[in-house]
Amino acid sequence: MFIDTHCHLFWDSYDEDLGEVLARASLANVRQVIIPATDLATYKRASEIASEFEAVYCAVGIHPHDTAGLEDEAFEAVEAHAADANVVAIGEIGLDYYYADKSPKQDQHNALHRQLEIAKRCDLPVIIHNRDSDEDLLAICKEHQDGSLRGQFHCFSSSPEYAEQVLEAGFHISFTGNVTFKKTDLDEQLRVVPDDRLLIETDSPFMTPVPYRGKRNEPSYVPLIAEYYASIRGVAPEHIARITTENARSLYHLPEPSDA
Ligand SMILES: [Zn+2]
Ligand SMILES: [Zn+2]
Repeated sequence: MFIDTHCHLFWDSYDEDLGEVLARASLANVRQVIIPATDLATYKRASEIASEFEAVYCAVGIHPHDTAGLEDEAFEAVEAHAADANVVAIGEIGLDYYYADKSPKQDQHNALHRQLEIAKRCDLPVIIHNRDSDEDLLAICKEHQDGSLRGQFHCFSSSPEYAEQVLEAGFHISFTGNVTFKKTDLDEQLRVVPDDRLLIETDSPFMTPVPYRGKRNEPSYVPLIAEYYASIRGVAPEHIARITTENARSLYHLPEPSDA
């Protein structure tokens, strides 16, 4: 079985057919999924979906795009929701300098510091978003790393050297359908992550893997990404399924699916 560790099923593009999307995932052996929120409003929807569907878990946090001018109450709400049923992580949080006009860097840094502290106080892993912010992001994460901080650098697209530094700092790494894109070369990065730190994700509705590129992404496409992982790492897709599931289960403390 597979676990899609990152899919934004709260998007309204799933409103019409969410049940079918999850049924297709299950048929494709993608038996559990994690929905990371991007702010408090999307957390509310993610949390509703997680209470409705047994296979769905969620994370609470504020995405770097949405950190402009946040008040203390926002962080207090994140921390309060960290105790909710079905919350398995703080996320997604991080830095995004590609869309730096959406939130000033200073606000992004402040939100990242505060949410890393929340994760440590609540003993939860973090889900980290990074776009064009390699250096500052890792520096801030390392500042908070006292041996207890753990989490996932999602949608990894930086250099192999950066992957090694992220691993060294104690984090897991996942890739999306972007590994299958012709113009993207993440093969070396895929090879440097050891078996016990590798995760898999779709980042739905974005990053749709080949051959569905351009269409809405969904968790049932995880096996396509796994096949690519397997071909680059020279192992069977079943091995990728086993290790990424074990890693996700232990990082996020997910139970076995009840009908396993
Ligand atoms: Zn992200
Ligand atoms: Zn995301």
